[in-house]
Amino acid sequence: MNAALRKLEHEHNRLAKRLRHQVGRAIADFGMIEEGDRVMVCLSGGKDSYTMLDILLQLQKKAPVNFSITAVNLDQKQPGFPEHVLPQYLESIGVEYKILEQDTYSVVKRVVPEGKTMCSLCSRLRRGALYTYAEEQGFSKIALGHHRDDLVATFFLNLFFHAKISSMPPKLLSDDGKHVVIRPLTYVKEDDIATYAEQRAFPIIPCTLCGSQENLQRKQVKRMIDQWDRETPGRIDTIARALGDVRPSQLADPKLFDFLALGRHSAAPLPDVHGWLGSGAEVEADGRPAPIALQLA
Ligand code: SF4
Repeated sequence: MNAALRKLEHEHNRLAKRLRHQVGRAIADFGMIEEGDRVMVCLSGGKDSYTMLDILLQLQKKAPVNFSITAVNLDQKQPGFPEHVLPQYLESIGVEYKILEQDTYSVVKRVVPEGKTMCSLCSRLRRGALYTYAEEQGFSKIALGHHRDDLVATFFLNLFFHAKISSMPPKLLSDDGKHVVIRPLTYVKEDDIATYAEQRAFPIIPCTLCGSQENLQRKQVKRMIDQWDRETPGRIDTIARALGDVRPSQLADPKLFDFLALGRHSAAPLPDVHGWLGSGAEVEADGRPAPIALQLA
């Protein structure tokens, strides 16, 4: 092997090692996988989910616990979807898999007005079909391929457009309490995933076969984040680290931190908002004061 090839192989190995390390650390930090788990790995055919499956399979071989992996793809019947690509790949690597079929494409086309982005309804329908299958088959964990940059983008989307400090959690219980969803790529950079997918030559299937575009808000946020990263390399890392270092006493949410009890010197009941502002005070349905911004509007 010549020097250039050796250098390339060394770089590939280093990246694979870094990804295994980051995924392994996320699994440990958030208790994502335990003994006997049956993990359903959702595979879309994009770079993120291929990488997630690949790294999980590598980690499975040396994991301190036994767990199974099944790759599951939902064929949503988008025009031009190359049906043979995923089965061919999954058979070549010898992983257990299932391709589900549900024509969500026609539903989305029928319901969403022409010219509007379809991704939100499309992914809700996809999630519904995958969760239903997971329940039928008794999978104990559902693994999704969202990565560090998705977490950061979602944080800003929620901040700017929904007035919430929240993101995509690395591990969550679905609203109906039936599913535990894990995001093993929580610590992994999108750029690293793109490089890894290229190195491993995954047979990528584009999501935009349906012709839809991501919504304007998400695009704006992505543009802003990309620009930051160009101008101030390392900023996204800093933000991602901040998502894991939240200080409720330094924010302003009395539901997360008991500001009322802070520094009290008597046990007498405190007057509520009406006591301070009179009967005209604007309050929410649960009796809490309405947000300041709304009161001033
Ligand atoms: S690009 Fe198309 S297939 Fe992908 S999420 Fe959006 S609507 Fe669904």
